[in-house]
Amino acid sequence: MDPSDSLLNALAGHPAASPHARQLRQGFRWLRFEPALEAEFRAELTRDLERRLRVIAWLSLTIWAGFAMADALRVRPELLDPRQLVLWDQLRATRLGVLTFLVLCTAWLWVQRSSRGNRTLLVIGALLVEWGGAFGTTCYLRLQIPVLMEVLLLLVASLFLPLGLTVRQTAALAAVSVFGIAGVGLLTLSGAMLSHYLYFCWLAAVTALLAGFGAYFREHAQRQQFLLQAELGWQATHDYLTNLANRRLFGRELERLLRAARRDSQPLALVLLDVDWFKRFNDLYGHPAGDDALQQIAGELAAAAARPLDLAARLGGEELALLLYGADAAAVQRHCEALLARVRDLRIPHADAPNGRLTVSLGCAMARPGDSGQALYQRADALLYEAKQQGRDRAAFEAATTPS
Ligand code: GH3
Ligand code: MG
Ligand code: MG
Repeated sequence: MDPSDSLLNALAGHPAASPHARQLRQGFRWLRFEPALEAEFRAELTRDLERRLRVIAWLSLTIWAGFAMADALRVRPELLDPRQLVLWDQLRATRLGVLTFLVLCTAWLWVQRSSRGNRTLLVIGALLVEWGGAFGTTCYLRLQIPVLMEVLLLLVASLFLPLGLTVRQTAALAAVSVFGIAGVGLLTLSGAMLSHYLYFCWLAAVTALLAGFGAYFREHAQRQQFLLQAELGWQATHDYLTNLANRRLFGRELERLLRAARRDSQPLALVLLDVDWFKRFNDLYGHPAGDDALQQIAGELAAAAARPLDLAARLGGEELALLLYGADAAAVQRHCEALLARVRDLRIPHADAPNGRLTVSLGCAMARPGDSGQALYQRADALLYEAKQQGRDRAAFEAATTPS
């Protein structure tokens, strides 16, 4: 069995918490994701394109130079009449023009710093090679030099190599190419020669269709791989029950935000949350009800992590954490009081708790210069203990941050 099949089966039984899992479940028959994921996927394709473009440019340059050399070996100008000599000049000019473009492209790709315009360059280069190649074929036909017409099929099929374009883009490029190739014949050939040429154009169109089918399935597999990889990354960093960040992601973000806060002179707060009398709650209402309550509380914590750099995490059991970036002590205090109120407002009954409802306690510590993640965590944990000691359903702050 394909490993991605077993992964898909494993995912099938789970609620789709991440956008990738939702898209996997929903499918993408027309090779389109929802906008945010589509943008992510396109960005990855662009990175692929950047990596491949130099190779593509070198390859096109070499093949084109091969065509030009074949001309020099096969065409004997001294045997041509004046009308044919004009044609020979046109062929040489075309070869030289495209060759110059490819040399410039290759050189540009070598020295460039930004990747802007690379896709346009690829499309222009591809069309020049396709149409220039087609023009070369018509010249050979008119010069009555034997030519392998199958080269037209190769030209069109080569567009379906994994160049870093989507299938839709490739299909559009192939359609424009085939029409252009046919157009070159219509403009330059006539009679039996034209019929022979158009027959190969038709074969080129069929080749494009068949290659298009292959490319569709390749991109489908590529998109599935993209979603599965992102989903695995998501699952490795998130908690299954609450969908909050897990301890691994929390640890990583804590260190990263501490560095960012130091660098940008921004405040950073760590709030630890522990559910009050949760063992009794489980004993009274059962574990599934406990899970459900934990999910509701996690939802409130996730809502409290409103800004892009904030993070809500489940550290284990019924202990959750909130990282607030850029919020000063007074703002943190407001956030914490609001969070306590929102948990109370969930109105989850707890007959074995003093106030009859499920509540939480919070320990809130502000990062200090030179703090390690562990030091900050230990202070927040000590404050959480203090909040528990003082009677629960409350937040404990550091002395300096408590308003008078
Ligand atoms: P305190 O107010 O002092 O925090 O009391 P407590 O009962 O909450 O503290 P204690 O640490 O003794 O108990 C924590 C309980 O949390 C024990 C365990 O059954 C429960 N718990 C931990 N993880 C989960 C979970 O994933 N689901 C459920 N339903 N319960 C959990
Ligand atoms: Mg606990
Ligand atoms: Mg507890």
